Amino acid sequence: MKEDKNVVYSETLDVPNLDDAIKSETNNISVKNTNTKPNKMEEENKTLRQNLTRVQEESAMLRELFNNVNNELNNLKKPALLVADVVSIDHKNNAVIKLPNGNKFYSYVSKELKDLKAGDGVIVDQKSLNVIDKIDAGGNFDVEKYVIIEKPKQNWKDIGGLGREIEEVKEVIELPLKKPYLFEKVGIMPPKGVLLYGPPGTGKTLLAKAVAHSTDATFIEVVGSELVQKFIGEGAKLVKDIFALARAKAPTIIFIDEIDALAATRMDTGTSGEREVNRTFMQLLAEIDGFKGLDNVKVIGATNRIDILDAAIIRPGRLDRLIEVDLPDETGRLEIFKVHTTKMNLQKVKLKELAQLVDNFSGAEIRAVCTEAGYFAIREDREYVTQKDFEQAIEKVRFEDEDNDHQKMMG
Ligand code: ATP
Repeated sequence: MKEDKNVVYSETLDVPNLDDAIKSETNNISVKNTNTKPNKMEEENKTLRQNLTRVQEESAMLRELFNNVNNELNNLKKPALLVADVVSIDHKNNAVIKLPNGNKFYSYVSKELKDLKAGDGVIVDQKSLNVIDKIDAGGNFDVEKYVIIEKPKQNWKDIGGLGREIEEVKEVIELPLKKPYLFEKVGIMPPKGVLLYGPPGTGKTLLAKAVAHSTDATFIEVVGSELVQKFIGEGAKLVKDIFALARAKAPTIIFIDEIDALAATRMDTGTSGEREVNRTFMQLLAEIDGFKGLDNVKVIGATNRIDILDAAIIRPGRLDRLIEVDLPDETGRLEIFKVHTTKMNLQKVKLKELAQLVDNFSGAEIRAVCTEAGYFAIREDREYVTQKDFEQAIEKVRFEDEDNDHQKMMG
């Protein structure tokens, strides 16, 4: 504050009573207007009042700040609350809740919580496990963050060979989605899904994507091993949500890659991990059983290990159409070469000869050969690809595969 040299502070006034002094000064002013002391005192008074108001405001602000920080500190000290699902509610408004680890508890529900029903997500106190509040877990499908959802662009034309497999997939998945009335008229139920099995890289995912494209269906891709490893304690719920999402976005194809990770026959060791996989698998079976063959949701499972698959998943009414997708024969390999070289600038390349050279190669490996051949050309600063580039590429891919196999054996 800028100090006013003319201000006379009250302590400096040599009067026993301030009011009397003010009065006498005011009289003086009315008598002779030459004395300015009362004015100065009023000014002083005003300034002091302003200062007081400012200090009071500051104090209120600081108090509010302190309260906020204090509240935050108290909140940070509180133990976190658990998230659980309501299994059932009894007539006394108490609930059976299920924790993510699968354990169930009979809990008291806060009186303020109305309309709680089975299936709701709730938060519960860690110690007492009593239900404190409801949380909105449903509706906006959290599951969308964890699965791949797309409208694939792959076409039947992008698949080399696999003529028989394509026909089967068309019959089991495409036809019921496109012409359900045919099935109704004839009076048969199409399968709810199929199981594609065979070695890695043979086009199982490609087949599933192509049928999603041809039926303009939403494609939801889930990887079985991720379902049980990444989302520990959440697998069963995720399966439930995936099917709910599929119904909401129908027509939908749910593609479960590595389904053996969920549906493998296993020794019942009774470990918690074991129980978790089992719960997820049971939920998957329940979901598949819960819809009809003519609903516009279809399930395509894929595995490289049909030998270890639990028979429950392929029982009638589930994924009961098994389609083997094996390594391509020579004609298949030629077709795959054709698919992957359509956009390549080839010079005197004999694809037929190449198809003979890649015995035992999968579709994925043939694609890798085409890419590598392109690289050989680019390294030599050429704009076209030759037979020799392909031959070198085949050796490279073969060598890398052998190396990988060797590392797998060692490691
Ligand atoms: P995995 O069992 O490892 O999941 P997969 O059988 O699902 O393998 P895909 O993912 O479909 O194999 O194949 C990988 C890639 O290999 C495809 O994206 C495609 O580029 C190529 N490919 C595989 N098979 C074929 C095929 N028959 N025709 C054309 N391309 C193919």
